[in-house]
Amino acid sequence: MKILKQILKIVFALIALLVLSLLIIVWVDASRTNYLDINKNEPISNNSYLISNVNIIPMNKDTVLLDKMVYIKDGVIEKLADTIKVNGVQIFNGESKYLTPGLIDMHVHVWDRYELGLYLSNGVTAVRNLWGMPMHLRIKEDVIEENIFSPSFFTTGPKLTGSEFIGDDNLNLTNPREAKEKIIEYKESSYDFIKTYYGLDKAIFDAVIEQAKISEMDIVAHPSQKVPFSYHLHSQIKSIEHAEEIVQQPLQFDLDQRKLQSIIDSISKSKHTNYCPTITVFNNIYQMMMNDSILDSDSLKYMNPLIKMDDSKRQFDRWFNAKQNDPKTVDRIKSQHDFHLTIVKKLHKAGVPIICGTDGGIGVTLPGSSIHKELAFYKEAGLSNYEILKTATVNASRTHEIMNQLGTIEEGKVANLLVVDENPLDNLSSLRKPTYVFVNGRKLNRETLDSFDEKAKNRKNLIATALRYLENLIVEK
Ligand SMILES: [Zn+2]
Repeated sequence: MKILKQILKIVFALIALLVLSLLIIVWVDASRTNYLDINKNEPISNNSYLISNVNIIPMNKDTVLLDKMVYIKDGVIEKLADTIKVNGVQIFNGESKYLTPGLIDMHVHVWDRYELGLYLSNGVTAVRNLWGMPMHLRIKEDVIEENIFSPSFFTTGPKLTGSEFIGDDNLNLTNPREAKEKIIEYKESSYDFIKTYYGLDKAIFDAVIEQAKISEMDIVAHPSQKVPFSYHLHSQIKSIEHAEEIVQQPLQFDLDQRKLQSIIDSISKSKHTNYCPTITVFNNIYQMMMNDSILDSDSLKYMNPLIKMDDSKRQFDRWFNAKQNDPKTVDRIKSQHDFHLTIVKKLHKAGVPIICGTDGGIGVTLPGSSIHKELAFYKEAGLSNYEILKTATVNASRTHEIMNQLGTIEEGKVANLLVVDENPLDNLSSLRKPTYVFVNGRKLNRETLDSFDEKAKNRKNLIATALRYLENLIVEK
C-alpha cells in the first residue's frame, strides 16, 4: 500500500508539473506579443488627429478629393472639409499623399496574435476570420476593448459540418436539432457569423437557415455538396466562398463557359449574395507545384510554425505527389486557375458584388501580404482599379450590417485608414506597405509596422498554438 501511495504521489506531481509548464508556455507566448498592447499612457494611443494636406480616395464614389483636411475624433471620422479648425488636436501633415480606407480581408484563418500585426503591416485593417475558436473570442474582446493594435476583428463560430468525417475540425452534426443548438450556443458566445461547410444535408441545412434567421446571424457559406448549389443563394447567406466551389460542385470540373454563365445568372438574380473568390489560395497549389523548395522560402517564415509543419507540408506533399503521378496535373490546375479568373470577370459583369478574401493563414497563403496578390488577380480578370479597391473596402463593409462602419472615408465611419505615396487608383501596388496605417484612429508609422513583421518572422510558438487548437477541440466536442 505504501508503495502504491508513493507512486500515486509521483504521478500527481508529474501531472501538476505538466499542467504548470503548459500554462507557462501559453503565458510566455502571450507576453511575446505584448508589442501589440496599447499603452494608454503613451503617445501612440492617441486616437484624435487633424490630418491636413491630403488627397482622399473616399470609395463611396469613383473620385479623388484633392487637398482636404480630415478630423478624426476618438477613432471616428468626424469631419472632412477643405479647411477645419479645431483646437488641442495633434496635426498630421499628409504631405499631398493619398488617404484610402484600410483594406478588409474577408477570408482569413488567424492562428496567433503575431498575425494581427502582419495584417496591419500590409494595410489590412479589418479581417473576417472563418474558422472560429475560443482564442478568437479573446482576440475580439481585446480588440473591442482597445487593448491591442489589431485589425477590426470579426469571426464565425466553428464550422458547421455534416455527419461524415472530414478532419479533426469536424463537428459531426447528425440532425437538425444539434445544428440549431450550435447556432444558439455560438450566438451566446458572441461569435459574429455562422460558417457552413461540407456535408450539410437538406434537413440540417434548412435548420441552420431557420435558426440563423431567428438568432439574427449572417451565414457565410463554404458550399455543401449535399444540397444543390442554388440552396446557397438564400437571403440569410451573405457570402459564398471560393470560386473553385463553382467548378467542383455545379460544374463538376467541366470548364464550360455556357454552363458557367447560367450559374452566374442565378447568383446575380439573388441580389443579397456576395461572392468571395479566394483566387490566391487555389493559385498557391500551382505555386507549390512550380517551386519544390517553397517550404524553405523566406516568405514562409511568416506562417505560423504549427501550420507550416502540418498543413503547409501536407498540402505541399499532396500536390508534389500528384505531379509525380501525373505531370498533366500542373496544366490542369493552371487551367482551373485561369477559369477562376473568368468566374470573377463574369460575376463582376453580372453585377454580383465581389468581396476580397485570401484564405490567408493556411497552406502557403501568407497572412497579410496575400491580399495584394488577390487584388492583382482581379486586375488580371479585367476589373478597373476602382472596382478592385471596392472589393476590399466598400463591398466588404456592405456585406454584413455589423461591418457597415468600415470601408469608406465618410463622416461617422471608423478611422481605419491608409496613407500611401501614390494614387492607388492609378497604381494598386502603392497599397503594399503603406507609409502610415490608422487603426481606430491610432497612427502607426512604417517603422512600427516593419517591427510587427520582424516580430512575426520565425516565431517559435508551435506548442502554444497547438495548445490553443487543443482547447478548441476540447470545447467543441
Ligand atoms: Zn478558408
